[in-house]
Amino acid sequence: MIWVSALLGAIMGSFFNMLIYRLPRGLSIIKPRSMCPACGHRLTWTENIPVVSYLLLKGRCKNCGKRIPFRYLVVEIITSAAYAYAYWRSGLSPLYLVDLIFFSLLILIAFTDLETYLIPDVYSIGGIFAGLALSGPNPLVSWKGAVVGVILGGSIFAGIAYAYARIRKQEGLGGGDIKLLAMIGAFTGCKGIIITIFISAVTGLLAGFIAIWKSKKGLQTMIPYGPFLATGGFIAYIWGNRIMDWYIRSLST
Ligand SMILES: [Zn+2]
Repeated sequence: MIWVSALLGAIMGSFFNMLIYRLPRGLSIIKPRSMCPACGHRLTWTENIPVVSYLLLKGRCKNCGKRIPFRYLVVEIITSAAYAYAYWRSGLSPLYLVDLIFFSLLILIAFTDLETYLIPDVYSIGGIFAGLALSGPNPLVSWKGAVVGVILGGSIFAGIAYAYARIRKQEGLGGGDIKLLAMIGAFTGCKGIIITIFISAVTGLLAGFIAIWKSKKGLQTMIPYGPFLATGGFIAYIWGNRIMDWYIRSLST
């Protein structure tokens, strides 16, 4: 069953790749069928098998030979692994469904933000409602906890964004990041928000320093924050309780 879940993940990953490309560009997600963005060549079914086709074609379009972005392979493998992990962790239970939806949203958001610096509202606001609706089978939060998580997540980042905009006279945190943290709050509650902010700030700062050091634009260098929030949200969702227990124990000894 883990393999069935992994296969489902690979197929969904292939679908997510299409969404990551088409949704921010305002293209239809129903028509046309998958095609090469460079030459418009329609993919046959053998060229459209998740993971396998990329490897067989060695990452190039069969028609024009242009490189297929490495992201296609990465998203398919990550989604497949996430779905397999969800089954291993939760079995065929209501929690499995919560896992699949939350992991899917994080993957879609992280990779869309990475490419376009945008987090579509469909994912973040849609995710807020999904998280609230799924708080029943989700052992991390009660429905009240989910509501408080949304409010806390949204207001902390809205506050920081407001302060930053006042002081630096430019946008630091985008509206997408605010809605994303609210969405993570709907799935992980208050504790999850704190852990997510901590992890994303540390990893994001580290990546920011590297980006500034490598680029010539200095402090004007932009990096998308969504992938770091998504990673923090994933860790908070999976290990949040253990991290908090460990932290409280280390304070009391
Ligand atoms: Zn092509």
